[in-house]
Amino acid sequence: MTAGDRGLLVSGRATRAEEFLHLEDQKLRDEHLSRHRQPVKAYPGKPRQEGSRRWKKAAALKRAAEARSRRRVKLAANTAAHHAIAFASEVGASRVVMGDPKGIERKDSGAAQNRRTGRWLRAGTRNAVRYRMEERGISFHAVDERGTSSVCPFCGSPALKADRVLRCRNPTCAKSHHRDLAGSQNIARANGGAVKKLAHVEHRRVGQPSRRDRRRRQFDASRGEARTRAAAQLAESLAA
Ligand SMILES: [Zn+2]
Repeated sequence: MTAGDRGLLVSGRATRAEEFLHLEDQKLRDEHLSRHRQPVKAYPGKPRQEGSRRWKKAAALKRAAEARSRRRVKLAANTAAHHAIAFASEVGASRVVMGDPKGIERKDSGAAQNRRTGRWLRAGTRNAVRYRMEERGISFHAVDERGTSSVCPFCGSPALKADRVLRCRNPTCAKSHHRDLAGSQNIARANGGAVKKLAHVEHRRVGQPSRRDRRRRQFDASRGEARTRAAAQLAESLAA
């Protein structure tokens, strides 16, 4: 987020880590489920067949893990929205324009990336910001953000992307920007806002601290074998 010469960066790294570790765990839970007898739906001439007790137990654990992970991700999105409101209030904004990654859902980016996009709380995050802004009398608009993170916000020249950094290719300008902040400034410029050099950028993190996550340590300690804590427990129970 940017306003004049001030910027706010909210890192969602912990949320990405949460998604990654959660999906690793769920993969193994699915494997576990597939080894037990599933319930079979009734069809004409055949009654419903119940699943085994082990299947039911494992299915309940999987549902609980899914709900837990969704809660964490949702909480992080709401916290991020909270930081955005605090920033908007502090700089005295009366109008907020938010970049909306429209069209990202229709694009086919392969199974893994499609799954990540599908799980992303896009509308949830946008609405969390919208409602809070409108509550405070700040007008809110969502605009298409396509192309905003690939040009220099000062001169509009094409820029080189390298990780999160954007380097202007215009030799007389040649400035470097943080891609997300540059994206925010480009959205501002396209919507009648002034773009200044950022003098002060606040950093905030949302989500659970992933470095202390037990699943992460397990994953790093035994990459290739039992990859997470749930996997280790599963391997243990199967060996017994
Ligand atoms: Zn430039």
